[in-house]
Amino acid sequence: RKRCIRISTGSKQLDAALNGGFQTMSLNEVYGEFRCGKTQLAHTMAVIAQLPKEMGGAEGKVAYIDTEGTFRPERIMEIAERFGVDPDQACENIAYARAQNTEMQTELLDGLAANFATNEYRLLVIDSVMSLYRTDYVGRGELSERQQVLGQFLRRATQMAEEFNLVVLMTNQVMSDPGASALFAGVDGRKPAGGHILAHASTTRLLLRKGRGEERVAKIVDSPDCPEREATYIITTGGIND
Ligand code: ADP
Ligand code: MG
Repeated sequence: RKRCIRISTGSKQLDAALNGGFQTMSLNEVYGEFRCGKTQLAHTMAVIAQLPKEMGGAEGKVAYIDTEGTFRPERIMEIAERFGVDPDQACENIAYARAQNTEMQTELLDGLAANFATNEYRLLVIDSVMSLYRTDYVGRGELSERQQVLGQFLRRATQMAEEFNLVVLMTNQVMSDPGASALFAGVDGRKPAGGHILAHASTTRLLLRKGRGEERVAKIVDSPDCPEREATYIITTGGIND
């Protein structure tokens, strides 16, 4: 039987709030406004996942599906330096793919099954999970079809997380369109995209927001084993930190 592993976020406070970090065999969703650090968290965890377990890692490789074109190898190298690992090696351990539309996003996920079958991978990043669905399916008329296709994608991701012992880290946007947001019940007035289908698929949901000055705040809004609580973190050259 596979054993569940936790991967650190880079912030001790946030790790403590999450009982040690994000868990393998589950979908984890991080949502919040632009610039709150979702992509920086994805980069940070892409390095930490490779580290030894004593350092909060899982000694694993990483798959990274980028839907917004915001992946930066230079950031991976800077974060690698913080943890004292070889920057080039850190980049080589990340299987990177850019998705241009939802069809590609699904194809890339299916294609990664071959990588995951090696049992070397412990983290799959999808940054961001909803952006392409929101551009490929426009308007209310296409919403039910979108949700159906999204549901298939999320079921596949869940299945892979369990079969291959992966942390799936999905970032998500908050909705600004009042018509769309009225359709779905939100949390704290900030409504993640994806509706009930995504809400139910995500085992752990984290809401990120800007705090005072450079500070950022993460709130656990949904977790199978943590109470609803907040943690602060900062974004540094070395990634997410306290
Ligand atoms: P999101 O994906 O949530 O829109 P990002 O993860 O891209 O947001 O975070 C953007 C923030 O990260 C910006 O406030 C930016 O200043 C900060 N940031 C990016 N690179 C660095 C760095 N090297 N050092 C410190 N902060 C950085
Ligand atoms: Mg981003």
